[in-house]
Amino acid sequence: MALIVQKYGGTSVGTVERIRGVADRIVRYREAGHQVCVVSSAMSGETNRLDALGKEVVERPLAREMDVLLASGEQVAVALLAIALTARGVPAQSFLGFQVAMRTDAAHGRARIEQIDTQALRAALEAGTVPVIAGFQGVSPTGAVTTLGRGGSDTTAVAVAAALSADECEICTDVDGVYTADPRVEPKARRLGTITFEEMLELASLGSKVLHPRSVEFAGKYQVPLRVLSTFEDGEGTLITMEQDNMEQPVVSGIAHARDEAKITMSGVPDIPGVASKILGPVSAAQIEVDMIVQNTGADGLTDFTFTVKRADYESALDLLRPVREKLGARALEGDNSIAKVSVVGVGMRSHAGVATRMFDALAEENINIQMISTSEIKISVVIAERYLELAVRAIHGEFGLDGKPS
Ligand code: ASP
Ligand code: MG
Repeated sequence: MALIVQKYGGTSVGTVERIRGVADRIVRYREAGHQVCVVSSAMSGETNRLDALGKEVVERPLAREMDVLLASGEQVAVALLAIALTARGVPAQSFLGFQVAMRTDAAHGRARIEQIDTQALRAALEAGTVPVIAGFQGVSPTGAVTTLGRGGSDTTAVAVAAALSADECEICTDVDGVYTADPRVEPKARRLGTITFEEMLELASLGSKVLHPRSVEFAGKYQVPLRVLSTFEDGEGTLITMEQDNMEQPVVSGIAHARDEAKITMSGVPDIPGVASKILGPVSAAQIEVDMIVQNTGADGLTDFTFTVKRADYESALDLLRPVREKLGARALEGDNSIAKVSVVGVGMRSHAGVATRMFDALAEENINIQMISTSEIKISVVIAERYLELAVRAIHGEFGLDGKPS
């Protein structure tokens, strides 16, 4: 008998019919002799609907009350799921964040889990009851409802699995695993049987939507065996492993892409100490996340400074930098919000030289211009024009031998 934490995403509980299907799936695990602890997202589309509702009242609603509003989506889903389970003769009980208690810090909208009380969950499990926990929500030190950021119920599930020392955490979703690339962009993408934590963390942070990046971080930190699999079809899915055998690994395990990026360049900036901090200071003070940064060395005492931000932050970042450009006496401030980032990830890169060259060659062959490059030990990212995104992903996918049989 194993203790399994199962997280169901929004599509999996998107209709009453599907909620019944999820309940049947949980019953099958119980019949196979397992203990199951469930974490659920809101029904698909619900969190977006609630978010829009709050913003319809005022443009910038209070963060504290937005969390109360958004968290209600999960409240509905766990109640429905517990009702469906009990109707099947399986004792089940819903748990909201504060009932667990799922203790977080007070950062509304992006709270971090600090501690989980396991007493009530353990008592339920021991009594043969299936706890059905509301994902995405927690309780702050002062008792306020918090949420973990969009997509955060993956993180709830992994944190619960860690706290309960579960045998496995299953992320049950609408895809049957982690793919070598997004199958909507590259139809020849293949499902991976396994992938390492390090690789999964990179892929998740570089734009692969299948797991919330913080959930992977958690799983690595607390050594939680994590699996991504389909709610609707049987299958092994993809196991995220601790494996570190670099020699056995393919050079590139997967490709991630992100469309929601924008690039800002301040050119002709005096090349003196303090310039980078004067440019990026106001941007980060406004809580705008900066991703890639490139600065060249200018021969004429001037330098060009380029960085990327999320596309949603593009206009605000430009607004912040106009006065900075004037103060620094820089020649120009320009931007481009139709760029995309494509990244290759693989722990096998550590033991292979020339991976970057192969990637750049593949892009050159398609006449795709690389605008920016950044690398780490196990990843290479490039910024290109968004219109070449599909072509770039496919070219690189083929180059590294990732193509599967067409289905
Ligand atoms: N319901 C929340 C969202 O849509 C959390 C989640 O689904 O993981 O972002
Ligand atoms: Mg999700």
